[in-house]
Amino acid sequence: MNWDDYAHWGRKIADWGKDYRQNISRRPVRAQTAPGAIRAQLPNTPPEQGEDMAAIMADVDRIIMPGMTHWQHPRFFAYFPANAAPPSMLAEMLANTMAAQCMLWQTSPAATELEGLMVDWMRQALGLPGHFSGVIQDSASSSTLSAVLTMRELATGHTGNREGLSGKGNLRIYASEETHSSIDRACWVAGIGQENLVKIPARGRDLGMDPAALEQAIDADSKAGHCPAGIIAITGGTGVGACDDLAAITAIAKAEGLYTHLDAAWAGAAMICPELRDRFWQGVDGIDSIVFNPHKWLGIQFDCSIQFLAKPEAQLNTLKIEPEYLKTSGGDVTNYSEWTVPLGRRFRALKIWFMLRSYGLAALREMIRDHIRWAEEICEIIHAKDGFEIITPPMMSLFTFRCPGDDDAQQRLVDALNDDGRIYITQGMFKGRKVIRFQVGQFDTTRDDVMMASDVIDEVHASIAP
Ligand SMILES: *Cc1c(COP(=O)(O)O)cnc(C)c1O
Repeated sequence: MNWDDYAHWGRKIADWGKDYRQNISRRPVRAQTAPGAIRAQLPNTPPEQGEDMAAIMADVDRIIMPGMTHWQHPRFFAYFPANAAPPSMLAEMLANTMAAQCMLWQTSPAATELEGLMVDWMRQALGLPGHFSGVIQDSASSSTLSAVLTMRELATGHTGNREGLSGKGNLRIYASEETHSSIDRACWVAGIGQENLVKIPARGRDLGMDPAALEQAIDADSKAGHCPAGIIAITGGTGVGACDDLAAITAIAKAEGLYTHLDAAWAGAAMICPELRDRFWQGVDGIDSIVFNPHKWLGIQFDCSIQFLAKPEAQLNTLKIEPEYLKTSGGDVTNYSEWTVPLGRRFRALKIWFMLRSYGLAALREMIRDHIRWAEEICEIIHAKDGFEIITPPMMSLFTFRCPGDDDAQQRLVDALNDDGRIYITQGMFKGRKVIRFQVGQFDTTRDDVMMASDVIDEVHASIAP
């Protein structure tokens, strides 16, 4: 492809994007295709001769688009959002065009220096104290893995990387039963093992792990000769939005000398609203490592996960490796690849910069407040429906409910709603029962979109009534 064709198609795709996003609400939210249907329309072998871009783009519309689930649809109420606002998309175009690999300061000084500043802008936006610095990672899973590896190295006196873990006894990590599966996986990959991830029961209004049970578990493990290595707390668990009591947890961690990591992948974004911090964020100052994904609620598109660190040295001592080919001469610089498991890094700070400058924090706060208010409103409406019950009330903009009937009835309603296509929701599990999750968080969602969900639920529920 020559550069004139590149520019031509670049303009065409920008126009395509405008049409797609402006008319997205006419599409079913979840793809309405059967498994294998997309693949069946594509050739099994790669082409020998190059093809025309016009033909390729025509196939995007004809074959690919019917197989897409529309995460930017205003009636996306499933999972958590993965918003992509226009300024962030433009920044991604620039980052993709320069295609720099930003592993070291030297391999793109602007990327490193903007990253440090964007982490600090976000720190201020979330009301975190000045001793936190941090790094941008691809996902919360990677940030949590980095934190668990750090726990492992601190608990083994930095011998895990060098000697491996055999003969070192059981390292134990503590987390709420409401934590995300990325914590389990981090424990698998770090060599800790599922059986050494101790799940503490969640209870109370915010479904935080029980501090007394946490203390007892640590105590019992120490007596049994195990080695407590760290505590992973959550603000906004994926199932029902559970939030741990961070003040109680950091007090225990301090007394026991344990490293702490906080998974605030989704709800961290809401902490740009100061009024939410009293209830959900008390004690956060004492946490060692915090992950939050601007790529969920803040519109800075996937992938963009920030890990804040109180003492980055602990993680650097775990992950830093400097073979000759990565050495650079010169002054005192930050090489962010020393902070993470992957070496290569995209220029992710650019989209944070574009987004914060283009929107400003005030507009983002207003959006989050709207989402929380609308979630509370529709929760009330669903509560009033005959035979429906609210299982967990709104934690920020997420709540769960059940329709009349058993677990199968819940799944039937979820599937029927998603086959209908006007809204998209997903199910979860809470205390052994299936629940239907509803979260408000898509950037273009209006109050009408949220209210429409109530009518759709009524209609679809009536249509599948036995
Ligand atoms: C989304 C989410 C994760 C996983 O995030 P990735 O960036 O996809 O790895 C972890 N924890 C919570 C609470 C989440 O909401």
